[in-house]
Amino acid sequence: MTTIAPQTSLFIGGGWHTSSATESIPVISPLTEAEIGSIPSSTIADIDTAVTAARRAFRAGRAGTPADQAGMLRRFADALEARTEDRARCVTTENGMPISLARFAEGAAPVQLLRYYADLVEAQPVEERRASRPIPGTTVVRREPVGVVAAISPWNFPAILSMFKIAPALASGCAVVLKPSPETTLDSYILAEAAIESGLPQGLLNIVTGGADVGQYLVSHPGIDKVAFTGSTRAGRQIGKVCGELLRPVTLELGGKSAALILDDADIAQTVEGLATASLLNTGQTCYMSTRILVPRSQYSPYVDAITAMAAGLPVGDPLDESTFIGPLVSAQQRARVLSYIDRGRADGATLTTGGGAPEGLDRGFFVAPTVFADVDNDTAIAREEIFGPVLSLIPYDSTADAIAIANDSSYGLGGTVWTTDTERGLDVARQVETGSFGVNTFNLDWGSPFGGVKDSGIGRELGPEGLAAYQNTKSIFLTA
Ligand code: NAD
Repeated sequence: MTTIAPQTSLFIGGGWHTSSATESIPVISPLTEAEIGSIPSSTIADIDTAVTAARRAFRAGRAGTPADQAGMLRRFADALEARTEDRARCVTTENGMPISLARFAEGAAPVQLLRYYADLVEAQPVEERRASRPIPGTTVVRREPVGVVAAISPWNFPAILSMFKIAPALASGCAVVLKPSPETTLDSYILAEAAIESGLPQGLLNIVTGGADVGQYLVSHPGIDKVAFTGSTRAGRQIGKVCGELLRPVTLELGGKSAALILDDADIAQTVEGLATASLLNTGQTCYMSTRILVPRSQYSPYVDAITAMAAGLPVGDPLDESTFIGPLVSAQQRARVLSYIDRGRADGATLTTGGGAPEGLDRGFFVAPTVFADVDNDTAIAREEIFGPVLSLIPYDSTADAIAIANDSSYGLGGTVWTTDTERGLDVARQVETGSFGVNTFNLDWGSPFGGVKDSGIGRELGPEGLAAYQNTKSIFLTA
């Protein structure tokens, strides 16, 4: 992997601003464990400059009309599309995401999302007229941009999760200050280059770099009108508290511990093949993974064998290798966290059927072998807490009602899947699971439909028209007739 020159600039007000930072944050390759670059730890002065630039752009109405906004998003998409491969490779280098996934999720998908919101905002009327009651008259209901948005993203899918916020915010006429995760900030410089090349009006998108302290300052900044956050439930609670005190609108996309419910009519081979993606995508570092796998007790043993064989057979290695499915975890800290959960699983009496440590022959890089625990009690830590790594828990159940109860016995509610040869039966189960999104024999996000969580998985929705509404205030104007 290549080394990237240390970054000392920030993208602010449409151009490069030299950071006043005296400290830099190293970016470490999860494959080689070597430093591959560094980013400035933005100062308070840097963040103030970014928020001021965003406010100025918003006040000046630089986003223009919805038609202007759609054109701006399409030009941004074209410039980003030319950088698809560069951005995908950069993310893979930063966080170890397998390149075959990064090409779509981090390269192509952000471009698609910009185009989706361009089409949506163009089709949406800014004002609608309603007959008013009880006193007859007319009310004009207007959609207006919320203002300046602080967008804070995590390291697992940095490009697309940043775009979940940037695209609808720009589409609705807001200005954005983005703070990526320090592990995965280098790719946002490619985003900035695309913004410059596309002629994005100055100040509508600004990027500050740094860790949680930079995020904290940004969230409570008086120049911010709305916060959009994706990350851990722990940080989400802190941000929610600050925004509650300030009465500042906030979207929180947080952690998960979703369940896969395998029904007794499921096709075992197809189910287990589907579970590889539904439970281990991006080396398990995906928020909506179905990591609690609920198996009918009558078919428990064949499923344990088949899921163990699937996990043990997944290609593990260099994430830039096209055939890799399991790459290294993002950091030494994340590896230590995942290994500590594996120790807890063992200590709590679950049966390890494969994995459990570093994969053979890979003594460098933050690797953890795909790991399967059978006979897991839903009350133990590995079934209740988000591990965020390649660790699956197999839990037997007796009846469909029992499986639904186990699925719902969780503090989280983000994703989930059901596996069955009867779609209607699957839909019936889907309706009973307490969650924000759910898949029948699959789990695919849909740009046109809302995504988000219930319970400890968060507040609010991204994607779809609901994701656009999150960046719009409504104003009702009452007319006499
Ligand atoms: P994290 O919460 O540690 O950090 C996320 C981002 O928030 C980073 O940019 C970080 O610098 C910043 N941050 C941390 N504390 C902050 C604070 N108090 N105030 C402001 N900013 C703060 O999360 P992470 O480890 O980067 O990401 C993994 C987590 O993200 C997992 O829990 C995962 O489930 C969750 N996630 C959720 C979704 C979703 O859509 N629900 C998607 C992806 C990841």
